[in-house]
Amino acid sequence: MLGEIIRKVYKVAIYIRLSKEDADKGFDESESITNQKTLLLEYVKKLGPNYDLIDVYIDPGYTGTNFNRPDFKRMINDINFGKVNMVVTKDLSRLGRDYIETGEYIEKWFPENNVRYVSITDGIDTFSENNGNNDIAPFKSILNDMYSKDLSKKIRTALHTMQSQGKWVGGKTPLGYTKDSNDKNKLVICEEEAKIVRKIFEMAYLGKSVGNIKNYLNDNNIPTAHQLRYNELTYWSNRAIKRMLVNPVYKGVTVQNKRSRISYKNRKLRTNPEEQWYIVENTHEPIVEASKFDSVQKMQIAQNYTRVEKKNYFLLDGLMVCYECKHKIGVKKDRNNWGMICSYYRRFSKLKVCSAHGFNYTRFENTILTYLKKLFENICEEKIELNMKDSKSIVDYSVLQDKIKKDILIINGNIDKMYMDKLENKITEAMYDRLYNKLQGDIKQKEKEYLELEKIKNDVAGSSDEEIKKLIKEYLSLEKPTPELMKLLINRIEVHQNKDIDIYFNFRRLNELKEDIK
Ligand SMILES: [Zn+2]
Repeated sequence: MLGEIIRKVYKVAIYIRLSKEDADKGFDESESITNQKTLLLEYVKKLGPNYDLIDVYIDPGYTGTNFNRPDFKRMINDINFGKVNMVVTKDLSRLGRDYIETGEYIEKWFPENNVRYVSITDGIDTFSENNGNNDIAPFKSILNDMYSKDLSKKIRTALHTMQSQGKWVGGKTPLGYTKDSNDKNKLVICEEEAKIVRKIFEMAYLGKSVGNIKNYLNDNNIPTAHQLRYNELTYWSNRAIKRMLVNPVYKGVTVQNKRSRISYKNRKLRTNPEEQWYIVENTHEPIVEASKFDSVQKMQIAQNYTRVEKKNYFLLDGLMVCYECKHKIGVKKDRNNWGMICSYYRRFSKLKVCSAHGFNYTRFENTILTYLKKLFENICEEKIELNMKDSKSIVDYSVLQDKIKKDILIINGNIDKMYMDKLENKITEAMYDRLYNKLQGDIKQKEKEYLELEKIKNDVAGSSDEEIKKLIKEYLSLEKPTPELMKLLINRIEVHQNKDIDIYFNFRRLNELKEDIK
């Protein structure tokens, strides 16, 4: 034996438990059992051939009482039987509840039983003073640093391994899902939330726009994820719904590593290129059937192309104003009817700012059209002299024409986008053709409107009386006026909560006549 180097072999136990602080922090992912394990296994591996890992002892309970620590007892037992002579933990608090308890082990029990104890982040190594046992020292600072960085390559690699296996390593779960109580890396359906998700997809599947869905949810007091989980009153936004509708998590697919931190020093997130994403199918139970989810994707894309021409859907859209608060009055689906609603009230209905102004839109539109017809017929019949010197038009045709030009540009942009989507197989050939024809039709319609404006502009140049006469004649000749004509004639329609209506024309003379012929 003399002169021979005795190869001392350490029989290593890794001990893991959650501490009280972890529970208080709400089980931060970096403190989780999986992460402790990744770190400790990496550490022991680095120690080299003189260290044999015997077992990993895990107590998931955080209270630290002996009753909750069956694996700690098992480890002590293994030490008693000589199976283990070295214990490694992430930090001191893993060993016991408090310093008195841990001190008992470190200063008395471990030395008495010739057990070496290492706490990585505290830099404690009970054998480091002894000659020949300094092999851990170089690692201490490295690992301390590594742990504080948290995003060290090793841990990141472990994280990526989990992501590539489709294990959920994100913090907050998407609405509709919660973490499995037996496996924190698995999503399970939370029925209360899933109901909302299903409703949203169902509406989108039936062709409802994101804005429509948002209004439905807010109008019916359907809680947001934030409200359900933190009991803070928030409202649905278009953005939140759009994000949900494109999130493949709802068809059972986990997509992770879409974004990552720039570095451990910079916590800002950066979007990763798609080839770095981890996309794993069938990782959890879907809330939405895959076929329905895919249909919704195509419809969302289609909706984005055709967004422009929705504006003129209602003849009076954009003209109605709330008398009480002066915000716009919009139209929304109200069971089988179209209902009016003050947009300010709608956005902040819970705060009781303004009131609903919730009249039946169809009836309202008929009332306005009937009134205008009567007014204009009277003007014509009574041959009221329109020749007023100061009745200058306040309509600027060029502005209206510029707007149409802009719309055409947007539609053309959408056709380009749609073409790219066809090339990338996001939409089918048939869908492309159908949408292409529709959008070309929209452009033709816009061009027609543009030329009509040009004609009116030239016809009435220099004479606002002629202009009014011409518009009134046009109005009376039509079965139903066009939205363009309405916008030429009317500046705004103020709606009172008591059902009074004030019409403001774009022509001063018409506003005066309106008072005369009541
Ligand atoms: Zn209002």
